[in-house]
Amino acid sequence: MSAADPPQDPRAIAAGALVELRRRVDAHFEAAVRRTPTAFACRSGCSSCCVAFSVAQIEADRLRGALTRLAATDPALRRRIREQAAEPGRHACALLVDDRCSVYDERPIICRSHGLPVRATLDDGSAHTSVCPLNFVGTVAPAASTLSLDAVNAPLSVIGRMWDPDGERVAIAVIATEAG
Ligand code: SF4
Repeated sequence: MSAADPPQDPRAIAAGALVELRRRVDAHFEAAVRRTPTAFACRSGCSSCCVAFSVAQIEADRLRGALTRLAATDPALRRRIREQAAEPGRHACALLVDDRCSVYDERPIICRSHGLPVRATLDDGSAHTSVCPLNFVGTVAPAASTLSLDAVNAPLSVIGRMWDPDGERVAIAVIATEAG
C-alpha cells in the first residue's frame, strides 16, 4: 500500500481475515483426517457437537446472509429453522435440521474445529487437551493434529472487534428467528 492509497475499511480487512482463518482451520482438519483417517467418526449426520451457542457479529452476519439465501432457495427449510429456534428449552443448535447443518458452508469457526483434538489454556494457566469421545477411541491423537484454540480464538477476537467494536455476541437461536 502506498501513501496515496485510501485507508482500508476495517470491516473489509476483518471479512478477509475471517475467510483466511476459516481456511486455516479447515486445512488443519483435513490434514488431521489424512494423518489418521480411521480415528475420526466425523461424518454427515453426526450432530453430537451441534449444541446452541452464540457468535460475534461478524459470524452472525455470515449466518444471516446464509439464512436470507435459504429463504429464497428453500423457504420450507427456512420456516422449519425459525420454528425450531422458537422451541422452548431446545438444546441443539437452531440451524441443525435432520442432524445436518443447514448453513454448512457458512458455519462458524468453532463448528469447523468440532471433532479435532483441541488444546486450550484454562483460567489457572494450565493447558487442557480434549477430543470428541467418538474420535481417537483407544488411541492417542498425534500432536500435529491437535488444534490450539488459543491460536484460533485470539485472531477471531481481533477480527470480531474490527467488525463490531462493541464486541456484542448473539445467540444463533436469535439469528434464526430474525427476518430473512
Ligand atoms: S452452525 Fe451448523 S455446524 Fe455449527 S452447531 Fe449449528 S448446525 Fe452445527
